[in-house]
Amino acid sequence: MFTLKSSQVFEKSKKSNVQVLPPVISSSFLLFSKFYSRNLSPVGDFPRRVSIGELLYQDSSNKILSPVNGLAFLNPQENNISLRIDGELNFKPTYEKKDYNINEIKSRLNDLGIVSLDFNCEPFSKFLEEFSGSKESLIVFSPLTAEGNYDYKSVILSKYKPEFDTFKKSLEKAFSNSKIFDFLIEKKVNYKYPDGLYELFLKKYCNVTQPNFINHNNILFIGPETLYYILQALYYNSPFHERLVSVNILNKKGKFEGETKYFNIKNGTNLTNFFQYFKSKYKYNYFTTNSLYNKEPVLEIGDDYIYNIYNHSSFYICETKNSSITEGICIDCGDCNYYCPVNANPKALLNINITDFKIDICINCGICTVFCPANIDFQNRIKKERGN
Ligand code: SF4
Ligand code: SF4
Repeated sequence: MFTLKSSQVFEKSKKSNVQVLPPVISSSFLLFSKFYSRNLSPVGDFPRRVSIGELLYQDSSNKILSPVNGLAFLNPQENNISLRIDGELNFKPTYEKKDYNINEIKSRLNDLGIVSLDFNCEPFSKFLEEFSGSKESLIVFSPLTAEGNYDYKSVILSKYKPEFDTFKKSLEKAFSNSKIFDFLIEKKVNYKYPDGLYELFLKKYCNVTQPNFINHNNILFIGPETLYYILQALYYNSPFHERLVSVNILNKKGKFEGETKYFNIKNGTNLTNFFQYFKSKYKYNYFTTNSLYNKEPVLEIGDDYIYNIYNHSSFYICETKNSSITEGICIDCGDCNYYCPVNANPKALLNINITDFKIDICINCGICTVFCPANIDFQNRIKKERGN
């Protein structure tokens, strides 16, 4: 299993002005009814002709929209909807400069399927609904994504600054008692990855003492990737139907090769041929959606793989199935404890008596593993402690 290190990933992410390559084109698309732990129901009659953004699945809160203009077929036995492109490939955004009130914002974001990419893809409108706007409340615009996979801050400031200003003003008007922490424009801090993980960001820059138990009533946290899709929806009428995805090539020594590549990938795209391209170019046989914080399986290129925009925004093409990174000896730098957003004392996991590790408050974020220069696999140790 690969263990990615923050120093590698974030060195790459420092480069802004990266090029987004042409969209990945596939002849078949598949949308599944499962959404995290929820099971959505199909909407409307099938088969039918659909257009980009048309509602295909929903439950009481979430929506899955059509990623293409084409024909949609419901396959009830497999719990999926297959789609065939039949018409324009790409969505044509229409610019609309408008001062929305908060109810209009909620309803528009809801209709266009905008979710929080910081909090398990819950609908963003739900967080607006829950937010009290009281005197103690905070609205936080964070400049960093958790994975550092794309410099959304630069893109927002260079391309969508007027839209961001308008959106911010609408929030200021709706929640006039709240404090706004705007880390995109107003607050200049020397950020260090992986501070984008909301727990760490709130602890380090906003003095939130218990960021693991974030109270959405009092904190409206908006990461830059979520903000990017909010602005696209509000001012360009663009539904959440595709996502910007980074692809890195990782050799058997666990080192990155070449530049990170970025692609817009539509929900439900069959990526089998896309990965085959990398296999023939690099002669590497594996890929993974492994992230800095979560270890995911390494899969073989050639197997069918359908992209789900709600699950991942990065892929790694790998030379081998296993990383050569091995655990070293603790050098007592203290980084694991320093970066732990909830002060769970992960360093105690190295002691013979590990009872000082506060397992009950550990949120499994993986930061201690990411930062440890000795490659101590805390995640594995925590897993063992939890008995799974
Ligand atoms: S995984 Fe590590 S850094 Fe994250 S909360 Fe647990 S002990 Fe702290
Ligand atoms: S981060 Fe790693 S090397 Fe540093 S104190 Fe923690 S276990 Fe030791």
